[in-house]
Amino acid sequence: MQRRVFLRSVAAGSAALTAVTLAACGQAPAPAQQATTAPGQQATTAPAQQATTAPAATAPQAQAPAQTTEMPALEWDMATSWPVALDTIFGGAQTVADRVAAMTDGKFKIKPRAAGELAPALQVLDVVQQGAVPIGHTASYYYVGKSPVTAFGTSLPFGLNAQQQNAWLYEGGGLEKLQAVYAKLFNVIQFPAGNTGTQMGGWFRKEINTVADLQGLKMRIPGLGGQVLTKLGVTVQVIPGGEIFQALQTGAVDAAEWVGPYDDEKLGLNKAAKFYYYPGWWEPGPTLEVQINLDKWNELPKAYQEAIKTAAAEANITMLARYDARNREALKRLVEGGVQLKPYSREILEAAEKAAFELYDEFAAKDADFKAIYEDWKAFRAAIYEWHKVNEAGYTNYAYSK
Ligand code: CA
Repeated sequence: MQRRVFLRSVAAGSAALTAVTLAACGQAPAPAQQATTAPGQQATTAPAQQATTAPAATAPQAQAPAQTTEMPALEWDMATSWPVALDTIFGGAQTVADRVAAMTDGKFKIKPRAAGELAPALQVLDVVQQGAVPIGHTASYYYVGKSPVTAFGTSLPFGLNAQQQNAWLYEGGGLEKLQAVYAKLFNVIQFPAGNTGTQMGGWFRKEINTVADLQGLKMRIPGLGGQVLTKLGVTVQVIPGGEIFQALQTGAVDAAEWVGPYDDEKLGLNKAAKFYYYPGWWEPGPTLEVQINLDKWNELPKAYQEAIKTAAAEANITMLARYDARNREALKRLVEGGVQLKPYSREILEAAEKAAFELYDEFAAKDADFKAIYEDWKAFRAAIYEWHKVNEAGYTNYAYSK
Protein backbone atom coordinates (compact mmCIF):
# COMPACT_ATOMS: atom_id res chain seq x y z
CA MET A 1 0.00 0.00 0.00
CA GLN A 2 2.84 2.38 0.76
CA ARG A 3 4.01 2.22 -2.80
CA ARG A 4 0.59 3.06 -4.14
CA VAL A 5 0.27 5.98 -1.77
CA PHE A 6 3.65 7.23 -2.88
CA LEU A 7 2.86 7.04 -6.57
CA ARG A 8 -0.37 8.90 -6.10
CA SER A 9 1.23 11.51 -3.91
CA VAL A 10 3.86 12.32 -6.48
CA ALA A 11 1.21 13.10 -9.00
CA ALA A 12 -0.84 15.24 -6.67
CA GLY A 13 -0.30 18.76 -5.43
CA SER A 14 1.30 18.98 -2.02
CA ALA A 15 -1.61 20.60 -0.27
CA ALA A 16 -3.85 17.71 -1.23
CA LEU A 17 -1.47 15.03 -0.09
CA THR A 18 -2.67 14.57 3.44
CA ALA A 19 -6.17 14.04 2.20
CA VAL A 20 -5.00 11.67 -0.51
CA THR A 21 -2.97 9.69 1.98
CA LEU A 22 -5.78 9.46 4.44
CA ALA A 23 -8.21 8.42 1.78
CA ALA A 24 -5.84 5.75 0.54
CA CYS A 25 -5.67 4.36 4.04
CA GLY A 26 -9.42 4.12 4.30
CA GLN A 27 -9.79 6.89 6.81
CA ALA A 28 -11.87 9.98 6.78
CA PRO A 29 -10.36 12.82 4.79
CA ALA A 30 -9.45 15.98 6.61
CA PRO A 31 -11.91 18.67 5.62
CA ALA A 32 -10.07 20.81 8.14
CA GLN A 33 -7.27 20.93 5.61
CA GLN A 34 -9.35 23.22 3.48
CA ALA A 35 -9.88 25.61 6.32
CA THR A 36 -6.15 25.81 6.95
CA THR A 37 -5.16 26.10 3.32
CA ALA A 38 -4.29 29.56 2.10
CA PRO A 39 -7.17 31.20 0.22
CA GLY A 40 -5.24 31.18 -3.02
CA GLN A 41 -4.77 27.44 -2.82
CA GLN A 42 -8.36 26.55 -2.14
CA ALA A 43 -9.44 27.01 -5.69
CA THR A 44 -6.95 24.49 -6.98
CA THR A 45 -6.85 21.96 -4.18
CA ALA A 46 -10.49 21.74 -3.18
CA PRO A 47 -11.81 20.12 -6.39
CA ALA A 48 -8.94 17.64 -6.42
CA GLN A 49 -9.65 16.70 -2.84
CA GLN A 50 -13.29 16.22 -3.49
CA ALA A 51 -12.62 14.08 -6.51
CA THR A 52 -10.05 11.93 -4.76
CA THR A 53 -11.80 11.54 -1.47
CA ALA A 54 -15.40 11.35 -2.62
CA PRO A 55 -16.04 7.76 -1.43
CA ALA A 56 -14.66 8.45 2.02
CA ALA A 57 -16.62 11.70 2.32
CA THR A 58 -19.51 9.71 3.75
CA ALA A 59 -17.45 9.20 6.92
CA PRO A 60 -19.01 10.87 9.97
CA GLN A 61 -18.59 14.60 9.71
CA ALA A 62 -18.34 14.77 13.47
CA GLN A 63 -14.67 13.83 13.13
CA ALA A 64 -13.84 17.06 11.36
CA PRO A 65 -13.55 19.42 14.36
CA ALA A 66 -11.44 16.86 16.22
CA GLN A 67 -9.04 16.67 13.27
CA THR A 68 -8.62 20.44 13.35
CA THR A 69 -7.43 20.45 16.92
CA GLU A 70 -5.23 17.40 16.34
CA MET A 71 -2.98 19.08 13.79
CA PRO A 72 -0.39 20.69 16.04
CA ALA A 73 2.64 22.67 14.97
CA LEU A 74 5.62 20.41 15.63
CA GLU A 75 9.34 20.85 15.16
CA TRP A 76 11.56 17.80 15.35
CA ASP A 77 15.29 17.60 15.00
CA MET A 78 16.52 14.61 13.04
CA ALA A 79 19.89 13.03 13.82
CA THR A 80 21.66 11.57 10.79
CA SER A 81 24.82 9.58 10.14
CA TRP A 82 25.84 11.69 7.16
CA PRO A 83 27.84 14.75 6.22
CA VAL A 84 25.61 17.35 4.55
CA ALA A 85 27.92 17.37 1.51
CA LEU A 86 26.68 13.89 0.52
CA ASP A 87 23.55 15.13 -1.19
CA THR A 88 22.57 11.59 -2.15
CA ILE A 89 22.40 9.99 1.27
CA PHE A 90 21.87 13.11 3.41
CA GLY A 91 19.45 14.04 0.64
CA GLY A 92 17.32 11.08 1.68
CA ALA A 93 16.88 12.59 5.12
CA GLN A 94 16.10 15.95 3.52
CA THR A 95 13.49 14.36 1.25
CA VAL A 96 11.70 12.92 4.27
CA ALA A 97 11.70 16.33 5.97
CA ASP A 98 10.60 18.25 2.87
CA ARG A 99 7.78 15.90 2.02
CA VAL A 100 6.45 15.70 5.57
CA ALA A 101 6.33 19.51 5.67
CA ALA A 102 4.57 19.61 2.30
CA MET A 103 1.99 17.04 3.37
CA THR A 104 1.17 18.80 6.62
CA ASP A 105 0.90 22.35 5.28
CA GLY A 106 4.22 23.12 6.95
CA LYS A 107 2.93 22.30 10.41
CA PHE A 108 5.22 19.34 11.01
CA LYS A 109 8.78 20.53 10.53
CA ILE A 110 11.67 18.08 10.67
CA LYS A 111 15.23 19.38 10.55
CA PRO A 112 17.87 16.88 9.47
CA ARG A 113 21.19 17.56 11.18
CA ALA A 114 24.61 16.46 10.01
CA ALA A 115 26.44 13.63 11.70
CA GLY A 116 27.95 14.84 14.95
CA GLU A 117 25.50 17.69 15.58
CA LEU A 118 23.00 15.78 17.67
CA ALA A 119 24.81 12.48 17.95
CA PRO A 120 27.98 10.87 16.64
CA ALA A 121 27.45 9.36 13.18
CA LEU A 122 27.29 5.81 14.46
CA GLN A 123 25.06 6.52 17.48
CA VAL A 124 21.87 7.76 15.82
CA LEU A 125 19.88 4.74 16.94
CA ASP A 126 21.18 5.28 20.50
CA VAL A 127 19.81 8.81 20.84
CA VAL A 128 16.51 7.88 19.18
CA GLN A 129 16.16 4.86 21.45
CA GLN A 130 16.78 7.08 24.48
CA GLY A 131 14.25 9.62 23.24
CA ALA A 132 16.87 12.38 23.35
CA VAL A 133 16.15 12.91 19.63
CA PRO A 134 12.74 11.87 18.24
CA ILE A 135 13.81 10.77 14.75
CA GLY A 136 16.95 9.67 12.93
CA HIS A 137 18.14 8.71 9.46
CA THR A 138 20.84 6.07 9.46
CA ALA A 139 21.96 2.63 8.33
CA SER A 140 20.73 0.10 10.85
CA TYR A 141 23.70 -2.24 10.31
CA TYR A 142 25.88 0.27 12.16
CA TYR A 143 24.25 -1.27 15.22
CA VAL A 144 24.96 -4.96 14.67
CA GLY A 145 26.84 -4.76 17.98
CA LYS A 146 23.47 -4.24 19.69
CA SER A 147 21.78 -6.99 17.68
CA PRO A 148 22.74 -8.79 14.47
CA VAL A 149 19.08 -8.47 13.40
CA THR A 150 19.80 -4.85 12.45
CA ALA A 151 21.78 -6.12 9.45
CA PHE A 152 18.53 -7.22 7.79
CA GLY A 153 17.32 -3.62 7.89
CA THR A 154 20.23 -2.58 5.68
CA SER A 155 21.82 -5.41 3.72
CA LEU A 156 23.48 -8.76 4.21
CA PRO A 157 26.52 -9.91 2.26
CA PHE A 158 25.38 -11.96 -0.74
CA GLY A 159 21.82 -10.97 0.05
CA LEU A 160 19.23 -8.97 -1.83
CA ASN A 161 19.67 -6.21 -4.38
CA ALA A 162 17.60 -3.03 -4.07
CA GLN A 163 14.69 -4.41 -6.06
CA GLN A 164 14.66 -7.67 -4.11
CA GLN A 165 15.13 -5.89 -0.78
CA ASN A 166 12.05 -3.76 -1.45
CA ALA A 167 10.11 -6.86 -2.45
CA TRP A 168 11.06 -8.55 0.81
CA LEU A 169 10.44 -5.51 3.02
CA TYR A 170 7.18 -4.29 1.51
CA GLU A 171 5.58 -7.42 0.12
CA GLY A 172 7.43 -10.31 1.74
CA GLY A 173 6.60 -9.45 5.35
CA GLY A 174 10.19 -8.39 6.08
CA LEU A 175 9.46 -4.88 7.34
CA GLU A 176 6.65 -6.01 9.61
CA LYS A 177 8.86 -8.65 11.22
CA LEU A 178 11.77 -6.24 11.63
CA GLN A 179 9.51 -3.58 13.13
CA ALA A 180 8.37 -6.03 15.79
CA VAL A 181 12.00 -6.73 16.74
CA TYR A 182 13.05 -3.05 16.70
CA ALA A 183 10.06 -2.17 18.91
CA LYS A 184 11.04 -4.88 21.38
CA LEU A 185 14.77 -4.21 21.43
CA PHE A 186 15.00 -0.46 20.85
CA ASN A 187 11.53 1.06 21.43
CA VAL A 188 11.84 2.35 17.86
CA ILE A 189 9.75 2.11 14.69
CA GLN A 190 11.55 2.28 11.38
CA PHE A 191 10.74 2.68 7.70
CA PRO A 192 12.89 2.21 4.59
CA ALA A 193 13.95 5.70 3.46
CA GLY A 194 16.59 5.28 0.81
CA ASN A 195 18.70 2.74 -1.02
CA THR A 196 22.11 3.17 -2.62
CA GLY A 197 21.81 0.33 -5.11
CA THR A 198 24.60 -2.23 -5.34
CA GLN A 199 27.66 -0.66 -3.79
CA MET A 200 31.21 -0.79 -5.05
CA GLY A 201 33.75 -3.11 -3.42
CA GLY A 202 36.03 -0.45 -2.01
CA TRP A 203 39.36 1.26 -2.46
CA PHE A 204 42.65 -0.55 -2.01
CA ARG A 205 46.15 0.84 -1.94
CA LYS A 206 47.45 -2.40 -3.47
CA GLU A 207 45.93 -5.15 -5.59
CA ILE A 208 44.28 -8.10 -3.93
CA ASN A 209 43.78 -11.24 -5.97
CA THR A 210 43.63 -14.09 -3.48
CA VAL A 211 42.35 -14.76 0.02
CA ALA A 212 46.00 -14.81 1.10
CA ASP A 213 46.29 -11.17 -0.01
CA LEU A 214 43.62 -10.25 2.57
CA GLN A 215 45.65 -11.48 5.55
CA GLY A 216 46.47 -8.63 7.92
CA LEU A 217 44.86 -6.00 5.70
CA LYS A 218 43.32 -3.11 7.65
CA MET A 219 40.00 -2.07 6.15
CA ARG A 220 37.15 0.30 6.91
CA ILE A 221 33.96 -1.72 6.43
CA PRO A 222 30.91 -1.80 8.72
CA GLY A 223 28.13 -4.30 9.30
CA LEU A 224 28.28 -8.01 8.66
CA GLY A 225 30.55 -7.45 5.66
CA GLY A 226 33.21 -6.46 8.16
CA GLN A 227 32.59 -9.63 10.16
CA VAL A 228 32.87 -11.77 7.02
CA LEU A 229 36.18 -10.16 6.14
CA THR A 230 37.35 -10.67 9.72
CA LYS A 231 36.86 -14.40 9.12
CA LEU A 232 39.07 -14.07 6.05
CA GLY A 233 41.90 -12.43 7.98
CA VAL A 234 41.14 -8.71 7.59
CA THR A 235 41.46 -6.30 10.53
CA VAL A 236 38.22 -4.36 10.36
CA GLN A 237 37.48 -0.81 11.44
CA VAL A 238 34.23 1.12 11.36
CA ILE A 239 34.83 4.79 10.64
CA PRO A 240 32.16 7.41 9.86
CA GLY A 241 31.92 8.54 6.24
CA GLY A 242 33.38 11.96 6.91
CA GLU A 243 36.60 10.47 8.34
CA ILE A 244 37.42 7.79 5.76
CA PHE A 245 39.57 9.87 3.45
CA GLN A 246 42.04 10.81 6.16
CA ALA A 247 42.31 7.23 7.43
CA LEU A 248 42.99 5.90 3.94
CA GLN A 249 45.36 8.68 2.92
CA THR A 250 47.48 8.43 6.05
CA GLY A 251 47.65 4.65 5.82
CA ALA A 252 45.74 4.16 9.08
CA VAL A 253 43.76 1.73 6.92
CA ASP A 254 44.95 -0.10 3.77
CA ALA A 255 41.50 -0.20 2.23
CA ALA A 256 38.11 1.41 2.70
CA GLU A 257 34.65 1.21 1.29
CA TRP A 258 31.88 3.78 1.41
CA VAL A 259 29.16 3.56 -1.25
CA GLY A 260 29.93 4.04 -4.93
CA PRO A 261 31.47 6.34 -7.53
CA TYR A 262 29.52 9.54 -6.83
CA ASP A 263 29.88 9.57 -3.05
CA ASP A 264 33.38 8.10 -3.05
CA GLU A 265 34.57 10.80 -5.43
CA LYS A 266 33.04 13.45 -3.16
CA LEU A 267 34.90 12.00 -0.20
CA GLY A 268 38.11 12.08 -2.28
CA LEU A 269 38.80 8.36 -1.86
CA ASN A 270 40.18 8.20 -5.41
CA LYS A 271 42.96 10.49 -4.25
CA ALA A 272 43.93 8.13 -1.44
CA ALA A 273 43.97 4.75 -3.24
CA LYS A 274 43.88 3.83 -6.92
CA PHE A 275 42.45 0.30 -7.07
CA TYR A 276 38.66 0.34 -7.08
CA TYR A 277 37.10 -3.11 -6.67
CA TYR A 278 33.65 -4.38 -7.60
CA PRO A 279 31.08 -5.57 -6.82
CA GLY A 280 30.36 -4.59 -3.21
CA TRP A 281 29.20 -8.11 -2.42
CA TRP A 282 28.55 -7.13 1.21
CA GLU A 283 25.95 -4.56 0.18
CA PRO A 284 24.02 -5.60 -2.90
CA GLY A 285 21.10 -3.27 -2.10
CA PRO A 286 21.40 -1.51 1.25
CA THR A 287 18.38 0.26 2.68
CA LEU A 288 18.67 3.40 4.78
CA GLU A 289 16.04 3.95 7.45
CA VAL A 290 14.16 6.60 9.29
CA GLN A 291 13.95 5.49 12.89
CA ILE A 292 11.46 7.10 15.26
CA ASN A 293 11.28 6.76 19.02
CA LEU A 294 8.13 4.73 19.61
CA ASP A 295 6.82 6.95 22.42
CA LYS A 296 7.17 10.02 20.19
CA TRP A 297 5.60 8.10 17.30
CA ASN A 298 2.58 7.12 19.38
CA GLU A 299 2.02 10.75 20.36
CA LEU A 300 1.78 11.85 16.72
CA PRO A 301 -1.57 12.46 15.05
CA LYS A 302 -2.35 9.64 12.65
CA ALA A 303 -2.04 12.01 9.70
CA TYR A 304 1.53 12.88 10.71
CA GLN A 305 2.41 9.21 11.03
CA GLU A 306 1.08 8.66 7.53
CA ALA A 307 3.06 11.66 6.28
CA ILE A 308 6.28 10.14 7.63
CA LYS A 309 5.51 6.74 6.12
CA THR A 310 4.73 8.26 2.74
CA ALA A 311 7.74 10.59 2.79
CA ALA A 312 10.01 7.67 3.71
CA ALA A 313 8.67 5.62 0.79
CA GLU A 314 9.36 8.53 -1.52
CA ALA A 315 12.91 8.88 -0.19
CA ASN A 316 13.36 5.15 -0.70
CA ILE A 317 12.77 5.61 -4.42
CA THR A 318 14.35 8.99 -5.05
CA MET A 319 17.63 8.16 -3.31
CA LEU A 320 18.16 5.10 -5.51
CA ALA A 321 17.32 7.14 -8.61
CA ARG A 322 19.85 9.80 -7.59
CA TYR A 323 22.57 7.26 -6.98
CA ASP A 324 21.99 5.47 -10.27
CA ALA A 325 21.85 8.69 -12.27
CA ARG A 326 24.93 10.24 -10.64
CA ASN A 327 27.07 7.11 -10.39
CA ARG A 328 27.07 6.57 -14.15
CA GLU A 329 28.73 9.96 -14.67
CA ALA A 330 31.05 9.73 -11.67
CA LEU A 331 32.42 6.33 -12.68
CA LYS A 332 33.33 7.70 -16.08
CA ARG A 333 35.18 10.61 -14.48
CA LEU A 334 37.04 8.34 -12.08
CA VAL A 335 38.21 5.99 -14.81
CA GLU A 336 39.27 8.91 -17.01
CA GLY A 337 41.20 10.24 -13.99
CA GLY A 338 43.28 7.07 -13.73
CA VAL A 339 41.38 4.93 -11.25
CA GLN A 340 41.88 1.24 -11.96
CA LEU A 341 38.70 -0.84 -11.85
CA LYS A 342 39.24 -4.39 -10.59
CA PRO A 343 36.74 -7.22 -10.25
CA TYR A 344 36.95 -9.38 -7.15
CA SER A 345 38.39 -12.76 -8.02
CA ARG A 346 36.12 -15.79 -7.98
CA GLU A 347 38.32 -17.21 -5.21
CA ILE A 348 37.64 -14.26 -2.92
CA LEU A 349 33.92 -14.13 -3.76
CA GLU A 350 33.42 -17.83 -3.07
CA ALA A 351 35.40 -17.74 0.18
CA ALA A 352 33.45 -14.66 1.30
CA GLU A 353 30.07 -16.19 0.48
CA LYS A 354 30.94 -19.35 2.38
CA ALA A 355 32.12 -17.32 5.38
CA ALA A 356 28.97 -15.17 5.22
CA PHE A 357 26.57 -18.09 5.50
CA GLU A 358 28.69 -19.67 8.27
CA LEU A 359 28.36 -16.38 10.12
CA TYR A 360 24.57 -16.32 9.66
CA ASP A 361 24.33 -19.88 10.99
CA GLU A 362 26.38 -18.88 14.04
CA PHE A 363 24.09 -15.92 14.75
CA ALA A 364 21.01 -18.08 14.22
CA ALA A 365 22.30 -20.63 16.72
CA LYS A 366 22.56 -18.07 19.53
CA ASP A 367 19.98 -15.38 18.69
CA ALA A 368 16.31 -16.38 18.38
CA ASP A 369 15.29 -13.05 16.77
CA PHE A 370 17.99 -13.44 14.14
CA LYS A 371 17.05 -17.07 13.52
CA ALA A 372 13.37 -16.29 12.90
CA ILE A 373 14.06 -13.49 10.44
CA TYR A 374 17.00 -15.28 8.83
CA GLU A 375 14.92 -18.34 7.94
CA ASP A 376 12.24 -16.16 6.41
CA TRP A 377 14.80 -14.02 4.55
CA LYS A 378 16.76 -17.02 3.31
CA ALA A 379 13.66 -18.66 1.85
CA PHE A 380 12.61 -15.40 0.21
CA ARG A 381 16.13 -14.95 -1.20
CA ALA A 382 16.19 -18.44 -2.69
CA ALA A 383 12.80 -18.00 -4.33
CA ILE A 384 13.43 -14.55 -5.77
CA TYR A 385 16.85 -15.62 -7.03
CA GLU A 386 15.09 -18.39 -8.99
CA TRP A 387 12.68 -15.87 -10.48
CA HIS A 388 15.29 -13.24 -11.28
CA LYS A 389 17.69 -15.84 -12.68
CA VAL A 390 15.17 -16.52 -15.39
CA ASN A 391 14.03 -13.15 -16.55
CA GLU A 392 15.98 -10.26 -15.00
CA ALA A 393 19.27 -12.04 -15.59
CA GLY A 394 18.14 -13.12 -19.03
CA TYR A 395 17.67 -9.53 -20.01
CA THR A 396 20.73 -8.01 -18.32
CA ASN A 397 23.08 -10.75 -19.46
CA TYR A 398 22.12 -10.03 -23.02
CA ALA A 399 21.96 -6.24 -22.72
CA TYR A 400 25.39 -5.87 -21.06
CA SER A 401 27.20 -8.46 -23.14
CA LYS A 402 27.60 -6.19 -26.12
CA1 CA B 1 29.21 0.70 2.18
